[in-house]
Amino acid sequence: MSESNSLSLAGGEILVVDDTIESLRLLADILRGEGYRVRPTDSPRLALESALNNPPELILLDVKMPVMDGFELCRRLKQDERTSDIPVIFVSALQEIRDRVRGFQVGGVDFISKPIQREEVLARVSVQLELLRMRQHLEERSRALSEANQKLKELDKLKSMFIATMSHELRTPLNSIISFTGILLQEIVGEVNDRQRDSLERVQRAGRHLLSLITDIIDISKIEAGRMEVYAEDFPLQELVDEALASIILEAQKKEIALVTEAASWPVLHTDRRRLLQCLLNFLSNAVKYSEKGPITVLISHGDEQVEITVRDMGIGISEEDMPKLFEAFERFDSHLRVTAGGTGLGLYLTKKIATDLLQGKIVAESKLNEGSTFHLIIPRSIVPANTQEEE
Ligand code: ADP
Repeated sequence: MSESNSLSLAGGEILVVDDTIESLRLLADILRGEGYRVRPTDSPRLALESALNNPPELILLDVKMPVMDGFELCRRLKQDERTSDIPVIFVSALQEIRDRVRGFQVGGVDFISKPIQREEVLARVSVQLELLRMRQHLEERSRALSEANQKLKELDKLKSMFIATMSHELRTPLNSIISFTGILLQEIVGEVNDRQRDSLERVQRAGRHLLSLITDIIDISKIEAGRMEVYAEDFPLQELVDEALASIILEAQKKEIALVTEAASWPVLHTDRRRLLQCLLNFLSNAVKYSEKGPITVLISHGDEQVEITVRDMGIGISEEDMPKLFEAFERFDSHLRVTAGGTGLGLYLTKKIATDLLQGKIVAESKLNEGSTFHLIIPRSIVPANTQEEE
């Protein structure tokens, strides 16, 4: 017995429908001889009932039958979801191409010609059963894969939520450390000598670094867990750019770097203001950190649908080999400014997530070593917050 026959025995049956008793018997004998389980019937009406009540694996249908011919029976089988996927092979004496085409149109998969020949019957049946097995196997695999995928997604969400919760717990004591160090440094509770001041300043710097790391991690985890809420509101872009420039102006002045804005016109946006400010601040603070000369330029251009906010610096630039890693987490490139610049290596990773997942836009970066870098943020002027980000 061949492998497919034994597989068939393990599975369902073959329903054979033919109103001519001799043909029916012949087909049943050939198939049984190979070990298939056969359910023969000479009545199309009973065959339909039997197939619907107890779906077989494969159906062999005589084309020419009174009352209901094979094509009509096949059409009805294909209409019911219990039987629509069962392969149907027609058994037909008609050689005309017209009938074959009609057979395929009503959902048949193959033809066996009359007079019936044993080899042809067995070959066509085994091919269809083999195809069926392969299809079932593929369906099972794809079901298992999508289940595994779903589980992974849930685990990933859980991981991100865990990190967000843990980080939140860390933030409260850290804020105390930073603010009480500040109180000591301001000498509110008593004088501090130079050595104490130096130590306290180190504590404060380390605390601030840790706080910004934790804040970034909370944001990243929330976005990855789909828990970051997006609020769209109307606001003038010029106001937001001014606010961002105001927060870096002191650092820029320390390095004698001029800040310039260029815009033919300033649009009003309808998007998440806080998140957009976060992106712009990251570009600008990087531009100041990684530059020794200016100017730093913010360029605004927009169409009806989109706005492009560009931050260009004349800083140290990024090498060609580092560029592909620019938006990866914890990537910080070697340079003489690396130590003084400070940073976590999460800024651009987070900014890209905000730009794509929350603001529905994209970031494009260009840079040349020792010449400077340009970051473009291209976003819709107006968004309807996509509720992929679920409410907590
Ligand atoms: P960081 O906290 O280190 O600034 P980012 O994710 O913002 O982290 O940036 C990653 C790295 O990309 C930086 O450490 C720096 O090496 C490089 N980089 C980012 N912006 C600039 C820039 N404007 N000019 C030169 N290098 C930059």
